Amino acid sequence: MSVVRRKTRKVMIGDRQHGFVGIGGDAPVALQTMTSTYTYDIDATVKQINALHHAGADLVRVAVPDKKDTLALKEILNQVRVPLIADVHFHFERALESIEAGIHKIRLNPGNLKDRPKVEKVIAACRERGIPIRVGANEGGIVERGNKAQRAEEQAALEQDYQGMMTSIMVEKLEEYLRIFADNDFYDVVLSAKSVDPEIVLAAYRECSKKFDFPLHLGVTHAGPPETGRIRSVVALGALLADGIGDTIRISYAADPVYEVEDGKEMLQVLGLRLRSEPELIACPTCGRIEIDLIAMMAEVRRRMGEIDVPVKIAVMGCVVNGPGEAEGSDVAVFAGKHKGVIYVQGEQVATVKEDEILDALFAEVRKFADKVKRGEAKLKNAKVNIKPPDPIGELGSGWDKIKKEGLSLPVMRG
Ligand code: SF4
Repeated sequence: MSVVRRKTRKVMIGDRQHGFVGIGGDAPVALQTMTSTYTYDIDATVKQINALHHAGADLVRVAVPDKKDTLALKEILNQVRVPLIADVHFHFERALESIEAGIHKIRLNPGNLKDRPKVEKVIAACRERGIPIRVGANEGGIVERGNKAQRAEEQAALEQDYQGMMTSIMVEKLEEYLRIFADNDFYDVVLSAKSVDPEIVLAAYRECSKKFDFPLHLGVTHAGPPETGRIRSVVALGALLADGIGDTIRISYAADPVYEVEDGKEMLQVLGLRLRSEPELIACPTCGRIEIDLIAMMAEVRRRMGEIDVPVKIAVMGCVVNGPGEAEGSDVAVFAGKHKGVIYVQGEQVATVKEDEILDALFAEVRKFADKVKRGEAKLKNAKVNIKPPDPIGELGSGWDKIKKEGLSLPVMRG
């Protein structure tokens, strides 16, 4: 898939020590996540930031609810090599302290910072240091709380058409916040409009992409554990990214944030928005023709894939009948069945091995192929790959012999 990205302004985040990451403009979609440690716990936070960076995060955000958190930032920044973002709610002092400590970006919810002069102080400090600000309008904190009449009005409107009105309120609030930034001549801004409801996320970001040329930070907030949150996130973020909307993403799970990074990375890779750096696995869904324990084999394949540092496309298919067609385009494939496995490398049959030798033989070929790629002797995902299925009639039992003998046409089987 080739996604045509929406044109936006560009902001730069980082410094020499932590590297620079662009958001918007011609920069690739940046992947970010947030730590789940107490930021004042320096060792735990550094450990998690480094793990998230290693997993593929381009940017990491940390919460700074208290002064003890911002006091820890300097040492944390000393020990990590990825740009950091401070997440600020309610207390503008935390933003100023984070900027002083050397943070690379501020996430601000001006809805929580009602005092305009305080927001302007943060803007001035960010301008002085060249630090961008994300302005976020989250569904959870968007309805007016201070002004009773306005709150009643907004709630009544939401009762009529929750999704439509919520979208409008979020976009209107962003416009309102942006006026403060424009009045201060500050445009190093990233916008977000998050909700737990994928339909609101879709509508809000589509509207934002029409109205503003600021880069957009996509996210479905409070999505839940990966098992349920994954679908919400993929539905909303995948659709927006495929339409070219979105310049940085954060998947939010109630789990170890490394899952957020893994899923975000996979989403960007399958959309062609990020180059794949590790092997890709395709596998048949299994069906009544399966003749090996493919599910168990898959776990071992995934484990061994961690040792390969070239994005080889590996296919593991449960039979020799439909498997080849389904594995078309893979670099190294195995078709298992009848207690044996037939291994192909870019369409060429290279080995037939016994069932208990499949994994070793498969990975011997994967390693050999990866080395060839590294030496420039083979090309990944060679478009000409065309795997010829082994003769199923020769491979299979008596019912097939009858079909063969009587010249009947083969049934069409789909995986
Ligand atoms: S027909 Fe397809 S799904 Fe069924 S075992 Fe063969 S490859 Fe797997």
